[in-house]
Amino acid sequence: MKSVLAIAGSDPTGGAGLQADLQVIRHFGCHGMGVVSALTVQDTQKVHSVLPVFPSVVLDQLRCLVNDVQPDAVKIGMLASDDVVRNTSLGLASLPEGAPIVIDPILFASDGTALLERRAYAALIELFALATVVTPNLPEVETLTGEDASGRRGSERAAARFVEEFKSAAVLIKGGHRDGAPDDLLAIRGDAGPELHWFEGTRIEGEARGVHGTGCALSSAIAAGLAQGRGIVEAVEHARAFVAEGISNAHVVGGGAQLLGFTTSHRTAR
Ligand code: PLP
Repeated sequence: MKSVLAIAGSDPTGGAGLQADLQVIRHFGCHGMGVVSALTVQDTQKVHSVLPVFPSVVLDQLRCLVNDVQPDAVKIGMLASDDVVRNTSLGLASLPEGAPIVIDPILFASDGTALLERRAYAALIELFALATVVTPNLPEVETLTGEDASGRRGSERAAARFVEEFKSAAVLIKGGHRDGAPDDLLAIRGDAGPELHWFEGTRIEGEARGVHGTGCALSSAIAAGLAQGRGIVEAVEHARAFVAEGISNAHVVGGGAQLLGFTTSHRTAR
């Protein structure tokens, strides 16, 4: 069985963050490991507060774990503070060479709460050079690049910045916040410029209250696919189908956002 390490914040609802990552990784037939980077106080309605973990403890968790168990892939989610980003970066040096790294550059929760402090953006961008793929949504792309990425051209320009300037091997710009069709753009670094793949999205009519944790689930599903030996395009396709199904089967657990519903049709055990 392949092992996937999630470095992520705690979401007590289980809908996002580390708790969701571990459920998704398990769903894909991998063993999930978790390094906690931050605590949140939240329910399905809002994030009430955020507390980064003591930065050196993030590094200690990583070094201690990786000394013993070598993950086949890593997913990085909420990092909360500049010091946690920097200690995560130090900890990644102890990873086995070639282990794929998926970075979900979480800046804000859906309710607008900052999940990463502003002064950490530069260190987060530096971390992208280690990534197999970075999975920003449109607001994250626009905040980090300053580009208007709402149209196709703008997204392609911003994607080029991620692979050429920020040096990530690939970027998946999630289109859920687009006005029109929520198409996603995958750009893979290539010698003759980025190789572009547009994935058509269909808006799934769900509850007006929204579905929590889709970005966390998508990046964990991609990491699990990469751990199992899928190529980047195939891992992204598979993860998108998994999340689309999860949104269609979303369920109510509290008074706020719905949580993804997992069915068995995308379960794999390579
Ligand atoms: N809490 C944690 C720990 C997260 O990692 C995330 C992910 O973005 C959120 C909350 C916010 O999730 P959402 O934006 O889906 O509400």
